[in-house]
Amino acid sequence: MSSITSLQVFANEHFFVDLPYMKKVVSGIRPTGKLHLGNYFGAVKNFIRMQDEFESYFFIADYHSLTTHPTPADLHESVKRVFAEYIALGLDPEKCTLYLQSDLPQTAELYMFFNMNAYLGELQRLTSFKDKIRSQPDNVNAGLLTYPTLMAADILLHKGELVPVGKDQEQHLEMTRTFGNRFNRLYNVEYFPEPQAFNYNEELVKVPGLTGGGKMSKSAGEYDNIYMSDTDEVIRKKIMKAVTVTVDGPTEIGSDIPAPIQNLLELMHLVCTPDVVNHYRSAYYDGSIRFGDMKKQLAEDMCVFMKPFSDRIAEAMSNDTLISKAARQGAEKAAASADTVIKEVREIIGFKKFY
Ligand code: AMP
Repeated sequence: MSSITSLQVFANEHFFVDLPYMKKVVSGIRPTGKLHLGNYFGAVKNFIRMQDEFESYFFIADYHSLTTHPTPADLHESVKRVFAEYIALGLDPEKCTLYLQSDLPQTAELYMFFNMNAYLGELQRLTSFKDKIRSQPDNVNAGLLTYPTLMAADILLHKGELVPVGKDQEQHLEMTRTFGNRFNRLYNVEYFPEPQAFNYNEELVKVPGLTGGGKMSKSAGEYDNIYMSDTDEVIRKKIMKAVTVTVDGPTEIGSDIPAPIQNLLELMHLVCTPDVVNHYRSAYYDGSIRFGDMKKQLAEDMCVFMKPFSDRIAEAMSNDTLISKAARQGAEKAAASADTVIKEVREIIGFKKFY
């Protein structure tokens, strides 16, 4: 999908010029604290590419996180950390608009407008809401129920056209289109676009964890993850503790590589040269593999790969001026876009000043 078409604008009274028109991408980042290798390959790398190809709005979804009632100290700490990490990993405030959701109270206003035309039945029917009722029956709050109207406000506040989401968010994105279209119909305007899901046409990356299970995830514990801020010492320790199997090599000729070993090979594939990966794959099949050596190799290559990232994260975390400047810049850019939309929305609804 091409991100750029062209937009004809007046250069002067005689000529038009073609300016590149970049589609608007909007995406939220959960403020869950330290980012790991899976977040980097599964999300951040794409954001870095998008900021060059689209008019990109990336926000830290701190309003959204209130549904789980974080303490003020935890909320503050994790928002600041994730903001600093995204910058350290390559999001460039000059290329994209990186901001805190709560810096745009316009979000809350648009959310309220959408809530006025969102119906209990359609919100209750969503799979994600039903899952939440099951997983946290003691905290089924209105914020959870109205998650899709807040998401619609996030996206449509910038008239977002593309949203990089996975399959699990498709139903929510459909609701965003529903709320935007409902607004358009109610006021007889063609105002909000219909945002579409966006993915680069590559296989979705799934980075495995170190504990032998599925994908790397914070909920699988400290030793499943390699954080982008981990030091060499921590990386070596985690990888040397990674789950393997008891037999060095196939138990039967032609048998599949067991999941924990396949996971290590996939991690190698991300940070080692292809000949190193091929060497260990062959060594597994001919039975000459030593898992200790394989892990040492992975640990050393992982340290080399991670060093620039962990250094930049440490630097960003200790540089309050850098982070504050970027957050201010993001807030200003995002507010400029949001102000225009919210002003027009107010007028469409009928909030026109008569005094
Ligand atoms: P989360 O930390 O679960 O909020 O995920 C943030 C982003 O990172 C989402 O786009 C996920 O799809 C992506 N992500 C998280 N874990 C992995 C993983 N192990 N492999 C690939 N992508 C991941």
